[in-house]
This record gives sequence, C-alpha cells and structure tokens, in this order.
Amino acid sequence: VKDQLNRSERLAAVGQLVASVAHEVGTPLHSIAWHVQALAEEPTVTPDMKKRIDVIDGQLTRVVGIIQDLLSSTRQRKPDPTWLPVEHVVSPVAALMEPAFQAKGVALRVELGGALPLVWADAEKLHQVLVNLFANALAATSESGTVTITAGSRPATPEEIEVGLRVGNAMFITMVTIVVRDTGSGMPEEDLQKAFTPFFTTKAIGKGTGLGLFISRETVQAHGGTLTLESVVGKGTTVVISLPGQSAAATLLI
Ligand code: ADP
Ligand code: MG
Repeated sequence: VKDQLNRSERLAAVGQLVASVAHEVGTPLHSIAWHVQALAEEPTVTPDMKKRIDVIDGQLTRVVGIIQDLLSSTRQRKPDPTWLPVEHVVSPVAALMEPAFQAKGVALRVELGGALPLVWADAEKLHQVLVNLFANALAATSESGTVTITAGSRPATPEEIEVGLRVGNAMFITMVTIVVRDTGSGMPEEDLQKAFTPFFTTKAIGKGTGLGLFISRETVQAHGGTLTLESVVGKGTTVVISLPGQSAAATLLI
C-alpha cells in the first residue's frame, strides 16, 4: 500500500509540476513570439536582420510545440470544487492510511466534531493533499506517537473572501479549517523555510520527491484557500488547511 501511495503521489506530483511549469512558461513564450512577429514586419528591417528573426521565430515555434506536448501529455485538470461535507473527504483518506499507521504503531485520530459547514473542495484533489499530509506526518512520527486530524470553522477575513471569489469562484463568509497535527520530529527552522520549495526533501533518494507540500499548497490555493505549516523540533508539526466553507442552509439559497 505504501509503495503504491508513494508511486501515485510521485506521478501526480511530477505531472502537476510539469503542468504548472509548462503553463507558466507558455505565457511569456507567446508574448515573445508575438513581438518577434511584429519586429519582422517593421519597414526598417534589413535582409540580414530578417534572417536572424526567422531563426528566432523557428526556434520559438519548436519550444512552444514542446510545451504544448508536455501540457497535453500530463492531462492535468484544474480543481472542480463543489460544496461537500468535510467527512466525505477526510474519512476515506483516514481509512486508506489506517493500515500504514497500525503497522508503525502510530495512532491516527480523526476528531471532526459536530455540525461543520460544507467545504468548497474537489474531493479527488483534496484527497491527494490529505494523503500527502498524512504520509508526511507518519514518516516524521515514531512508534507510539499520534497524528490527529481535526476540523473546525471561523469567519473568513475580507482578503480571504476576495481571493476565494476570484480564484475559487465560491460565495462564502466562513472558512473551514482542517488541521493535521503530529507528535513527530518537527522541523528545524532552516527546513521550515524551504518546506514549500519544489524538490526540497530530507528523505532518502527514492523515498521523497520534495513536491508534496509544494503541490498541496498550490492545490489548496487553487480552491481559494490557504495551507500553512508550524513546527517545533522535538514536539511535532501542525498543518492548517483553510478552505471556503458554507452552512448547508446558505447553499440552498444560492
Ligand atoms: P517529501 O515528503 O517528498 O520529502 P514534502 O514536500 O511532502 O516532500 O515535504 C518536504 C520536507 O518537509 C520533508 O522531506 C520533511 O523534511 C519535511 N516535512 C514535511 N512534513 C513534515 C512533518 N509532518 N514533520 C516533519 N517534517 C516534515
Ligand atoms: Mg511528502
């Protein structure tokens, strides 16, 4: 199970990174191509300059082609969120991870509490995020340690509402928080600084991609939410996901 998780996480992570890099690079490339075309049409262009512009144009066409191939081969899709009960997302991940926790003698506690607002989430995408956070927590926690997932809600800040409307397309005034806390090794300050940097990993070669936290934060942000990390060496690590939330009654009115 663990190897399978590792592999699917790795594939998803690499695919998402390729897709986001390809997307980021594609936009400036198109701008360059457009300006090169405009240059070629300038009346003052000499035949010599025209030759060089044609070379640039030809090479650009090649690069744009490569980027487009990459984008279509990764088949990445944007999050497609809907209003979901928090437990619909959390419970399957907990069930999936439970055997790995048992095998290591680490307790997995799911404490979702009472009536929570619905959460604005793409179940599949959030599933991937939570798998990664649980896997990180498990890896950092030794026998007889504990990993706890809790959920709650709080009022959204004006900035969160603005970003959420713009990015996640959700109407909301509440944030749902999903917190994954472990009693593991914690992270030294210098690791904490780099935690979200793509390819930063302290794991052995083949064990970690260093993409999990990067992709997880990107995914949550694409929903209009935030993902933050707190850690104390020797005490443990806490990851807080905040996502747009809504009471069931309010969603019926929209
Ligand atoms: P990976 O798990 O592949 O190494 P991540 O982006 O998921 O990549 O995590 C990057 C690094 O952050 C890890 O290698 C580890 O050093 C650190 N880290 C992440 N989560 C935790 C945690 N819960 N406790 C301690 N360290 C962590
Ligand atoms: Mg990881």
